Amino acid sequence: MIRISTTSKLDGIRSWSLQALDTCPGSKNADGSLVDACSGCYATTGNYRYPNVKAPRLENREDWQRLEWADDMVKALDSDRYFRWFDSGDMYTLALAEKILEVMKRTPWVKHWLPTRMHKFPKFRGVLSEMQVLDNVSVRFSSDSVTGEFIEGLHGSVIVPTPDHATDKMTLCKAYANGGKCSGCRACYDKSVALIAYPAHGVKMSKVIKLKIVA
Ligand code: SF4
Repeated sequence: MIRISTTSKLDGIRSWSLQALDTCPGSKNADGSLVDACSGCYATTGNYRYPNVKAPRLENREDWQRLEWADDMVKALDSDRYFRWFDSGDMYTLALAEKILEVMKRTPWVKHWLPTRMHKFPKFRGVLSEMQVLDNVSVRFSSDSVTGEFIEGLHGSVIVPTPDHATDKMTLCKAYANGGKCSGCRACYDKSVALIAYPAHGVKMSKVIKLKIVA
């Protein structure tokens, strides 16, 4: 069964997600430690720890493997105009990435936003390139930094410690100024917007940033 969630931030725009970290191979450094951006991940704290929030994410990990999953996702998106992949989690296997690509191709009426760290793995480059050429898809390769470092032309999003740290190469996410909600902004779904800067939020992320700045 397709399990779609809605987060309050996104103006009611729906998303399909997996459990954070368990499905995020790109969240780890070579030594197994978490990259900075994932050390403060919002999807491992707060509401995300509740069983009713975890359950659909755990079920989705099994469900996508059904033969009919792509057909069912296309039907589920019939009335959506925007869709966010992975409010938590990432497309941890190539087979899942290929199914998501199929859904994207078969739903041209939907603007898809897919944030990911899977660009770190060479075997994903082909499927990610196929997604990137679709007019209705905005794939954002996430930088691991929490202090605004990014590679121009590669990364599509980065965390900055405060709004004042955003540079003129970045489009600043202003959800922080709108009660934590998108409030009509759709920049993340717009592939003509090269790089979004998200101001850090949450106690966990603040600690990571303090440690980085002290170090
Ligand atoms: S940049 Fe815009 S669309 Fe993206 S999360 Fe922020 S407010 Fe929402």
